[in-house]
Amino acid sequence: MLMTAVNQPLSLQAIADPQPGPGQVRIRLHATGVCGTDIHVWRGELPVPLPIVLGHEPAGTVDAVGPGVGSLRRGDRVGVAWFQGGCGRCAYCQKKKYKFCASPKTWISNGGGYAEYMVAEADGCTLVPDKIAWDIAAPLFCGGFSAMSAYKIAKPQPGERVAVIGIGGLGHIALQIAKSMGHEVVAITNTPGKAQDARDMGADEVLVVKNHVGKELQAMGGADVILSFSPAMKQNSEAMEGLRPGGRLVTTAPSAEPIQADPVQMLFKQTAILGSAHNDTGDLVDILNLVAAGKVKPKLEIYKFDEINSVLARLTEGRVRYRAVLVHDA
Ligand SMILES: [Zn+2]
Ligand SMILES: [Zn+2]
Repeated sequence: MLMTAVNQPLSLQAIADPQPGPGQVRIRLHATGVCGTDIHVWRGELPVPLPIVLGHEPAGTVDAVGPGVGSLRRGDRVGVAWFQGGCGRCAYCQKKKYKFCASPKTWISNGGGYAEYMVAEADGCTLVPDKIAWDIAAPLFCGGFSAMSAYKIAKPQPGERVAVIGIGGLGHIALQIAKSMGHEVVAITNTPGKAQDARDMGADEVLVVKNHVGKELQAMGGADVILSFSPAMKQNSEAMEGLRPGGRLVTTAPSAEPIQADPVQMLFKQTAILGSAHNDTGDLVDILNLVAAGKVKPKLEIYKFDEINSVLARLTEGRVRYRAVLVHDA
C-alpha cells in the first residue's frame, strides 16, 4: 500500500521485493500496527520522500539475511522500531542511543510495514517472544514501546499514584503497565464512553474531565506521576496542578503548542515536566516481556492490510478502540 502523494489514499501497487543490503534483513510481514504518527506523515506534517511504504509497527519473519549480519537468522520472529541505527561512530551511537545521532537510520530510509516484505537494519530488529501472536506484537513496536518509555522515564517509586491522561493506543497500555507494577492508577479521559473500559483494564479510579483536569485530579488526591498521551497541550499545562509535591508530568504527543507551567508552583512543589518518545531499546524488551507474561493485554481492532485507508480515516475520527492492526495473512 504505497503513499504516492500527501493526503491521497494509499494505493495497492506491485513493487519489486526489496533486497537486504549489508547489515540488513528482509522480513516477511505478518502484522503491522497503525500509529497516530502515520496520520502526521500522510498529511505531510512530517515530510518523507515519496513514494514510500508507511507502517512503523511491523512484525514478521526474517526471510533473507544480508551480508555481514551475524545476529539474526532466517525464520526469526522480529519486529522493527522507528530507529534502526545511526552513524555508528558518534558518542550517542556508542551508547546505542540512535535517536540522538545526527544521522539516524529509520523506517523512512528503508520503508515500512504496509507491504508483504520490508527490509530493516538487523540492529533495528528485536526478537518477538514465541508466546506473543503477531497482531499483539506489532503495536508494541511503537505504541507499547512509547508507553513503557513514558512510564520508566518518570522513575515511579513503590506506592506512588500514577495518572494516565488519554486512554487510547498508548494510554490503554500505560494504564496496564502501571497497574501491573502495583501502582494505584487513575485513568483520565475526556470521553465518558471509555470509563468502563478503563476500569476493566485495571484503573482504580476514572476521571472524566469536565473542565480543568488539574483541579479535578487534585480534588481526587492528586498523582505523583502523570503520564500524558494527550496532544492537547492546554490540558497538559492544566494537569500540572494535579501533581503532588515531587510529582512528574511526562508528555509524549508531538504538538506545535507550548506547555505552560507556573514556576512558583514548580519550585514550591518541586515538580518536573519530562518529554518521552522511544527511549532505550530495553523499554521495548520490557513491554514485550510484560505482554508475554500476560500482565498487559493490548485491546485491538484487526483489519486486512489493504483496508488501511479506512483505518486511517477511523483513526483521524478518534474511533479506534484502542489500537488498529493490519494483518497480512487474513
Ligand atoms: Zn508510532
Ligand atoms: Zn551516530
